[in-house]
Amino acid sequence: MPLTGIQIFKLLPKTNCGECGVPTCLAFAMSLAAGKAELSACPYISEEAKAQLSEAAAPPIATVMIGAGDKALKVGGETVLFRHEKRFENPPGFAILISDAMDEAEVNARLGRFNGLQYERIGLTLRPDLVAVKGDSEDASRFEALVNKVKQNSDCGIILMSSNPGILAAGIKACADRKPLIYGANKDNIDSVAELAKTNSCPVAVKASNLEELSQLTAKLTEAGIKDIIIDPGSRSLRQAFEDQIIIRNAALNKFRPLGFPTIVFPGEMTDDPMKEALIASMFVAKYGGIIVLSDFQGESLFPLLVERLNIYTDPQRPLATKEGIYDIGGPDENSPVLLTSNFSLTYFIVSGEIESSRVPGWLLVKDTEGLSVVTAWAAGKFVADAIAPFVKKCGIGDRVKHHKLIIPGYLAVESGGLEEELPGWEVLIGPRDGAHIPAYLKEWKP
Ligand code: SF4
Repeated sequence: MPLTGIQIFKLLPKTNCGECGVPTCLAFAMSLAAGKAELSACPYISEEAKAQLSEAAAPPIATVMIGAGDKALKVGGETVLFRHEKRFENPPGFAILISDAMDEAEVNARLGRFNGLQYERIGLTLRPDLVAVKGDSEDASRFEALVNKVKQNSDCGIILMSSNPGILAAGIKACADRKPLIYGANKDNIDSVAELAKTNSCPVAVKASNLEELSQLTAKLTEAGIKDIIIDPGSRSLRQAFEDQIIIRNAALNKFRPLGFPTIVFPGEMTDDPMKEALIASMFVAKYGGIIVLSDFQGESLFPLLVERLNIYTDPQRPLATKEGIYDIGGPDENSPVLLTSNFSLTYFIVSGEIESSRVPGWLLVKDTEGLSVVTAWAAGKFVADAIAPFVKKCGIGDRVKHHKLIIPGYLAVESGGLEEELPGWEVLIGPRDGAHIPAYLKEWKP
């Protein structure tokens, strides 16, 4: 069980010096317990206390980095069974499989799909994360050449797949600086693969034939000083794989350390049907894949998986929010319409998209409603005349337009009278309730 704030407080210096960014040691202890502060922020914790706190503060599932630089993927670090208990921490990585037995055209096509299938959604770039290079040919130089090619054609993280330590060593030679995931160790090769991982400071994946064997293998790696471990329980039927994921998460949350690592799953080894593979992958996004290796990428299956991942790994306590301010859309001028909306990201992107598609340039005022949508924010008293008027006055839109007409969302019609009282000199117009009607509304706009 994690330590409580009071238990942590007992281990702190209690000088209340404030150097950690909060005024008291107690406040810092509470922040640490809530996972909102880093232990390193206090420079005065004794080494003994640090050791105790680090051990206690470590998440039940280890956090593992794969790759280096901006595109490094962080997986694991999970602390709950269900998202609504707190949140899921680190989204699973999607990997595309490329084999050294494939011909050049196929390799190029897959690399093209890996690099090309990226999507902009609510201001975020959704994209896959890793390339899994598989050594099917058992030819070390061929494997090394393919790893080199992947490295040159993408700055992503790499998974090296072979059970032959000699082949893995050739792959590492080509991309050691990328800190590839070595997949993997098994009961027959664990000593040599562990040595490769230690020498090159790379994370290692371990594959077993059942959970018991898996626990023994991870214990052996841990004893050898390896901490960055990814686990594969070896199950390849849908039911068994699903059960194993649940058991692993439960065991880890109950502090069974040998299973406290992120998992790697292979939906493509459970079916030959690409659509079924996508469905199986979607199950692992929710329950509890750390890395999901797909046999190939197609836009129609990858995009829904990326969106599912985005939704499940969004913190339910913090709605996606857009920064408060004035957004100019399509090059507006002093005669352009001024529209108001909340800062719930989805609302912002729908409204701004509709203004853009209307081809009527406009000013969009985005009021901070703590990420709540228009109606929810209004019901919570965060998007009412008293709150909106000071924002409109302060944001400076009055200096940018001549007309002083403010278009409010249709759902805020009840606030129009109050707003006109609070904003002398402004005429408040009631806009559409539905974003889809904005283009037609704006076509009628007259300053
Ligand atoms: Fe307490 Fe350390 Fe923060 Fe100072 S820096 S207030 S000693 S926790």
